[in-house]
Amino acid sequence: MHVVFLGPPACGKGTQAELLVKKYGFHHLSTGDLLRKESASGSELGNQLKVTLEKGALAPTELVNKAIKKDIEKYSGNSILFDGYPRKIDQALFLDQILAETNGKIEKVFYFDIEAEELLQRILNRITCKDCGAVYNLQTNPPKKEGVCDSCASTNLIKRNDDNEAILKNRFKYFLEETSVLKDFYQKRGILTVLDARASLEKVTEQIVNAL
Ligand SMILES: [Zn+2]
Repeated sequence: MHVVFLGPPACGKGTQAELLVKKYGFHHLSTGDLLRKESASGSELGNQLKVTLEKGALAPTELVNKAIKKDIEKYSGNSILFDGYPRKIDQALFLDQILAETNGKIEKVFYFDIEAEELLQRILNRITCKDCGAVYNLQTNPPKKEGVCDSCASTNLIKRNDDNEAILKNRFKYFLEETSVLKDFYQKRGILTVLDARASLEKVTEQIVNAL
């Protein structure tokens, strides 16, 4: 069974993906990770990707599609959880085509529904330990001792520098525009489930498991 997660950054889909991987053995195809891995691999495709990523540009659809196809072929026997792909209708159609080659198809699409304001608060309150990577939220999950990492006792707790309100608002607006088309596309097929992504981690997992 192949599944798609549609959701903006910080909506909690990464955590849910990890849980599904553990519970059902999905292969988690996260586009960001995939592109980073491929561009570090030294393959021809990787080198082409590297050039665009180093410029800080978005990778062109053609290259992304190639990387996706390669990964799907590699995990053809697996259930795949697509995260960060497709982003556009032409990618969704491309995905259908690739999966059809192995008699597969997208069976479920989960849309993580969350309001811009809630998302902003989550991101703006997020701090990360520079030394061990632990992630905190000043509102919902602060370190036990202020300014000190619970796991490694480092005081190097930082806010990401792009956690800037105007940029985030723009990014979210862009995300909504981009995905509303995909949302309709999958809704018409009758395979879309809208998740209340403001709910607790457990509640969101429950909504997913019930729909699978
Ligand atoms: Zn730490």
